[in-house]
Amino acid sequence: MIEARAVSKRYGGRTAVDGATFTVVPGAVTGFLGPNGAGKSTTIRMIMGLDAPTSGSVTVNGKAYAGHAAPLREVGALLEAKAVHPGRSAYHHLLALALTTGIPRRRVEEVLDLVGLTGVAHQRAGGFSLGMGQRLGMAAALLGDPATLILDEPVNGLDPQGIRWIRTLLRRLAAEGRTVFVSSHLMSEMALTADHLVVIGRGRVIAETSVRDFISRA
Ligand code: ADP
Ligand code: ADP
Repeated sequence: MIEARAVSKRYGGRTAVDGATFTVVPGAVTGFLGPNGAGKSTTIRMIMGLDAPTSGSVTVNGKAYAGHAAPLREVGALLEAKAVHPGRSAYHHLLALALTTGIPRRRVEEVLDLVGLTGVAHQRAGGFSLGMGQRLGMAAALLGDPATLILDEPVNGLDPQGIRWIRTLLRRLAAEGRTVFVSSHLMSEMALTADHLVVIGRGRVIAETSVRDFISRA
């Protein structure tokens, strides 16, 4: 469960997130919907502990990370196009991450299989398509078998097949009882992927609702 309570983030004179309060429950996919610049990435960085709130609090299963990155075993994240060393293979990349975070190496093969990259695990990641890169990012997010998954605009630029793959995987991870929080600026995508919605605009939470209620009110 993710709980944001009156959380704000200011950069100099600019307010990126303005008193946001919302809850993300386990066992469902919750969409984080808002236009570009609304404050989604900033909020996600605070949930993960990559940034500290200026005021208010954000917790994940009761723990506030506030500026200390959440461990990979607690929170897995797929952030926008994180650069992977192009000369390294998917296997090498995941193994390095497992070794630095104390995750057993057998987990590398498990996540490669889970995202369908086993056959290309030893090829250079530099030759991967965008969709394969997203699969590798998803494998990294799942490496620690975390109860909480956060994805920032994961379908941007993907082809329809890649979008369907992400959507199906997120639904399965939620059905396993995990907390899944996924941002998007596309209502059409959220209508197909999410159960609940947190809607944000100009740093403020405008609505917290089920997708069904949001659509019937629109
Ligand atoms: P979204 O992810 O919804 O597109 P962001 O969280 O990236 O929105 O940005 C929200 C607002 O905060 C924007 O106006 C953006 O320019 C500003 N912002 C984000 N990060 C920084 C930063 N490091 N320094 C200054 N302003 C920032
Ligand atoms: P770098 O920042 O040099 O790319 P790593 O990829 O090894 O380094 O990651 C550094 C730390 O960031 C890891 O120890 C891990 O805790 C965290 N981390 C990496 N990938 C993820 C992810 N997908 N989700 C959450 N945390 C991650």
